[in-house]
Amino acid sequence: MIPVTKPFLPNREKLDKYIDGIYEREWLTNNGPLVQELTKRLEEYLGVENLLLVSNGTLALQIAYRALGIHESKSAKVAEAITTPFTFVATASSLKWEGIEPIFADIDPETWCLNPQGIEQKITEQTVAIVPVHVYGNACDVEAIEALARRQNLKVIYDAAHAFGVKYKGESILRWGDAATLSFHATKVFHSIEGGAIVFKHREDMERAKRLMSFGMTGPETISDVGINAKMNEFQAAMGLCVLDEIDENIKARERHWYRYQNELTSSAILQRLNNVSDYNFAYFPVLFRSKEELLHVSSGLADKGIIARRYFYPSLNELEIFGADLTLPISSGIAERILCLPIYAGLDANDVNSIIDIVKRLTSTYKEMQ
Ligand SMILES: *Cc1c(COP(=O)(O)O)cnc(C)c1O
Repeated sequence: MIPVTKPFLPNREKLDKYIDGIYEREWLTNNGPLVQELTKRLEEYLGVENLLLVSNGTLALQIAYRALGIHESKSAKVAEAITTPFTFVATASSLKWEGIEPIFADIDPETWCLNPQGIEQKITEQTVAIVPVHVYGNACDVEAIEALARRQNLKVIYDAAHAFGVKYKGESILRWGDAATLSFHATKVFHSIEGGAIVFKHREDMERAKRLMSFGMTGPETISDVGINAKMNEFQAAMGLCVLDEIDENIKARERHWYRYQNELTSSAILQRLNNVSDYNFAYFPVLFRSKEELLHVSSGLADKGIIARRYFYPSLNELEIFGADLTLPISSGIAERILCLPIYAGLDANDVNSIIDIVKRLTSTYKEMQ
């Protein structure tokens, strides 16, 4: 069986050494030395400041919203944030969980990221923020979004869960927005089993977030905010430090697979148009088909050979009952219905990539003949 992704397990002896250290210090959580070390090393590796580690990528979003005050409405009505329906559900459910209404705008038909014009059309009196996603690691039109947010006095929080290590015009993509969040879930390019981070533009926002993620406490006997617990523990940080040591080779292995797919599949399916002033981390290999029927033909043909391709992101979040079942976003709805992610991970065998390519080519051409 070839899964769509496999979590990376780093060198075991090195992890054991870190765990020995945890046993010696008997310091398991609450901003321990490994969490501090991982914070510094990630700031260096990514080229950012004001990075705060948290226990997962969903809490990273929730804490970012709170630290920036976007859960407080400008009017008597509920606060709204404009976001993309073409993403993992946590982008939108984290807003709703914080009492902020996610308002979906449509995506660009080629980059599959939020279309800035679509965002503008959805702005109302109640809009407080924009929450775009660098979907599959493809950088959004950050300059247009920044200009729009300035003009309309809105906060911007990028869900950068897919964009670990991505650079825009030579600098970290995480420097864009009032905050950008990462997920370090086991299936992501970089992981700490579960985990996440927030990169803030302003130091004072990070300081507020630090209090919020630790029960709102400012000292052993002082509580200044209503907080939550979103602390990363030392075992998570140990895994993160080990994975970080091997990240460059991992991304290189993904890159080889990614280019092989891209070179071979351009005439069999539609591929994502990548931002031409940013680089890429090869996190995913999504392919778009001409119809849902063609997608189902290919995915079931792959499954017959034990190859698990996954339909994400499907369904388009605007269609979900929990978000009000809005059926007026044709681009996102249309793409979500026809998209499939092919297996890609560092440990994937090059021969398996070749057989996946052969199968996809054969299935798409037999499908065309059937029409
Ligand atoms: C994975 C992911 C999240 C959630 O991160 P967790 O660490 O699993 O909580 C949020 N947004 C996007 C776009 C994701 O892919």
